[in-house]
Amino acid sequence: MPTLLQALHADITTLQVDAIVNAANPSLLGGGGVDGAIHQAAGPELLSACQKLGGCRTGDAKLTKGFNLPARYIILAVGPVWHGGTRNEPALLAGCYRRSIELVEGLELHTLAFPGISTGSYGYPVEQAAEVAVNTVRDALSQTSCIEKVYFCCFSSYDLQVYRRLLDGPQ
Ligand code: ADP
Repeated sequence: MPTLLQALHADITTLQVDAIVNAANPSLLGGGGVDGAIHQAAGPELLSACQKLGGCRTGDAKLTKGFNLPARYIILAVGPVWHGGTRNEPALLAGCYRRSIELVEGLELHTLAFPGISTGSYGYPVEQAAEVAVNTVRDALSQTSCIEKVYFCCFSSYDLQVYRRLLDGPQ
């Protein structure tokens, strides 16, 4: 059986999947990191689309088309800022992954790629964030039918190692 979950080392803006997830901020109006790269690659129509969405709560996600990206859709997920784990960060981060899967499932899409939401400027330690990501996605996928492949798109070889260790470990 083909692997449903896979970690890879890539720039998420280059992936030819049905949807990529953006680690956005609550305004959805663009920022740095992966958000900046996605806006740059998708083109200015993405910002216009985001302006109509009215922001997004932490732990939730919204959807736009992919515009100039190879991906057909962009999911804008808002991860939590890390405060040492004292402000419900794991549950909020899990919400981002769960809502993204729900949106993809609602459109009957098959392939999806996540960046390490919250692990850049929001400061969430990658080891802990990756565990939330993998566990939440595994759990959500057990209740879905049309998703064929989920990529964890890592921007560094260190992050890739962290994800591979989790994915290769006991299921
Ligand atoms: P956040 O504010 O949610 O922490 P960041 O964009 O600062 O979001 O970082 C989230 C993750 O995305 C980090 O692991 C960062 O290395 C990674 N990242 C940055 N640019 C890209 C890209 N082009 N493709 C994939 N991942 C990226």
